[in-house]
Amino acid sequence: MPSTHTDVETRIHQLSASVINKIAAGEVIERPASVVKELLENSVDALATRIEVDIEQGGAELIRIVDDGEGIHPDDIELSIASHATSKISDADDLFSVQTMGFRGEALASISEVSQFRLRTKQHGETVGVELEVQGGILKEPKACGCPEGTQIEVRQLFCNTPVRRKFLKTQGTEFGHISEQFTRVALANPNLHMVLRHNGKTVYELPATHRLIERLELFYGSELAQNLIWVEAEHEGTRLWGYVAHPSQSKSTRKGQYLFLNGRWIQDRSLQHALGEGYRGLVMVGRHPVAFLFLDVNPSFIDVNVHPTKSEVRFQDSQVLYRLMLSTLRNKFLAMDLDSKLTVDRNEGEGSGPSAEPKEMQRELVSWAKTRLDEYKKHGSLFEAVDKLAGPADAHSTGEQQSELSSTESLREGEGGESSKLGGVTHLDSPEGMEHPASAAAEIRAMQVHDCYLVVETTEGITVIDQHALHERIMYEQLKRRLLSGGVEIQKLLMPITVELSSREASTLLDQTELLAELGLLIQEFGGSTIALTGYPTLLSKADPRTLLRDIVELLESSSKKLDRRDLIDELLQMMSCKAAIKAGQRLTFEEMESLLAQRHLCDDHHHCPHGRPTALKLTRSELDRQFGRLG
Ligand code: ADP
Ligand code: MG
Repeated sequence: MPSTHTDVETRIHQLSASVINKIAAGEVIERPASVVKELLENSVDALATRIEVDIEQGGAELIRIVDDGEGIHPDDIELSIASHATSKISDADDLFSVQTMGFRGEALASISEVSQFRLRTKQHGETVGVELEVQGGILKEPKACGCPEGTQIEVRQLFCNTPVRRKFLKTQGTEFGHISEQFTRVALANPNLHMVLRHNGKTVYELPATHRLIERLELFYGSELAQNLIWVEAEHEGTRLWGYVAHPSQSKSTRKGQYLFLNGRWIQDRSLQHALGEGYRGLVMVGRHPVAFLFLDVNPSFIDVNVHPTKSEVRFQDSQVLYRLMLSTLRNKFLAMDLDSKLTVDRNEGEGSGPSAEPKEMQRELVSWAKTRLDEYKKHGSLFEAVDKLAGPADAHSTGEQQSELSSTESLREGEGGESSKLGGVTHLDSPEGMEHPASAAAEIRAMQVHDCYLVVETTEGITVIDQHALHERIMYEQLKRRLLSGGVEIQKLLMPITVELSSREASTLLDQTELLAELGLLIQEFGGSTIALTGYPTLLSKADPRTLLRDIVELLESSSKKLDRRDLIDELLQMMSCKAAIKAGQRLTFEEMESLLAQRHLCDDHHHCPHGRPTALKLTRSELDRQFGRLG
C-alpha cells in the first residue's frame, strides 16, 4: 500500500508540553474575547471590587486587565501559568461544589502559550510585587516589581505564534464587539463591581458599583428598557429564580437580549430558553424574542459545570424542575399584570426604530389625533373644555362606570342582530359560549372609530386606543381555543363539498393532517387525483373563503415542515384561522359592533395582545395628556 508518511509520523510519540498547551489553548482561547472572559473571571474569583479593562486594536494588539483583588502569593506565581494548576479545587468531589468561576487551571497556561504575556501581582501586606513574563510559552525568570495590591495582566500580540489563528481574527470592531459582550455578561452578573472598559484609549463603559441590578441594566440598555422591566422572583425547594423580564413590547429579532446566569455564571441553555419563549407565548410576535435578565441560584451539587471548556453550558440534575419553575413564574406574573402597552410619550420623537417602533408609531398617531381634536375644539370652545372632553370630566371618574353601564347594555341589545347584520361584509361579532354581553363592557361607551381601524375609548385613567383587528383576532383565537379544549369546534357541515385542486405533494401534506384539522373543525377528504374535498367548516369562520383558507393552511404546513410539534402547529393554525375570521382594518363598524367588540374584550384571558403578540391597545393617561398640552398641576 503506497504511503507518503515517514516513519516518524506514523509512530506514536508523546507530544511536547508546548504542543499540548497550544491544543488546549485552541479550546479555551478562540479569540481576544475569550481572553477577556477568562481574565475577568479570575478577577471576580480574586474578590476584586474594581476591574479595569484596556483593549487596543480589538484585542489583537493588547488586552490589559487590572484588578484590586487578593493577588497571587509570590511562591505560586510560576504555578499560576502552569496547566492544570489552580487554587480553586483539590479533588474530583470539589467539582460538584464549585463556587468560583474558574477551576480548570487552564486559562493562564493557555493564554501565555499563545501571546506575549506579563503578569504583575501583589498580595495584601507584601512590600513589593512580583512580575512574570512569558513570551509565547517561554517563561522568563520572575522578578520583583512595584505595583499596587491586586493583579495586572497584559496580553500582547495574541496568537503571535499561531499565525493561522491570528489571520482568522476579524476586524477590530467585530472582535471588540465580542469583548464588549463578555464584559457585559460579567458586569450584569456582578453589579457590585466597579468596572471600566476602554478601547483604543476611549472609555466605552464606566460602571460604578451598585447594589441595584436595575441601575446597571439602565446603564447598558437605557432608561426606556429599564422602565419596561418587570421584576420576577420565585423559589422551589432551594432553587431560586429572580431577575427582570422585559415588557413584551421590548422584544427583539434575536435572542441577544436574553441573559441567563447560573450561580453568577453566564450560561446558555436551550431548555431554559425554550421555557422563556413559552412564558411569552402569545405575547410577542412569532419570530420575535423576549428580553430577559434572569438569575438562577441552584445548589452546586445539582449541576455539572464541567461539561464545556468555557463552562457556558452546564448539565442539570433535574432540568424539568427548572423548566417548570421558569415557565410558571413568568406565566403567573404576566397573568396577574396589566400588559397593555403603556404610552409614555417619547421626548426624543422621531428616533423610534427598532423593537418598539410599532407602538411608537401608534403613539405618534394618537398624539397627533389628540392635537387635531384640540384644534377643532379650540375653534368651538375653550381650551379647558377641549381637554376635559378629551379626558373625561374629572368629577365623573368615580361614577362614570355606573352611568355608562346602563346605556351600554341597552344599546347592545338594540344592536344585536339588527344594525350589525345589515352590513353583510362585516364579520358578526360572536359572543363567546352563550354569554350575554356583560355590563362590564359598559365602562367604555364613549368610543369612536378612527381611520376605520382604531377604536378610541375613554377610560377612567385617560384614553385607550384599540386596534380593531388585533383585538377581534385575539377574541376569535381564544374562542376557537376554548372550544377546541372543551371537546370541539362547532362545525358547519357542507351539503355540497367544496373541492380544491392542489399539487400531489400539497394534497398529501394536507391529508397527513386530516385528524388534526378535524379537531379544528375542518373536515377534509381525498376526492380523486390531488383534489381535496372540504365537507365541513368551523362555524366561526363562516365569513372566510374556504378555498383560500385551505391553500393558506397548506402553505403553513409546508413552511413549518417538521420543526413544529403538534401543539405549536395547532397554535399556528388557530392564529391563522382567527386572523381570517376577524374584522379587518379598514372596515367601518357600527356603534353596536364597536360595543360588542369592546364588551368581549373583558372576556379574554389576554386581551392585551393579538395572537401574534402585537399589542391590541395603547393607553394614554390623563396626566400624559395634560403634560402634552401644557396643563401642569
Ligand atoms: P483557574 O481560574 O481555573 O484556577 P487560571 O489559569 O485562570 O485557572 O488561573 C490559575 C490560578 O492563578 C488561579 O487558580 C488563581 O489562583 C491565580 N490567579 C489567576 N488570576 C488571578 C487574579 N487576577 N488574582 C488572583 N489570582 C489569580
Ligand atoms: Mg481562571
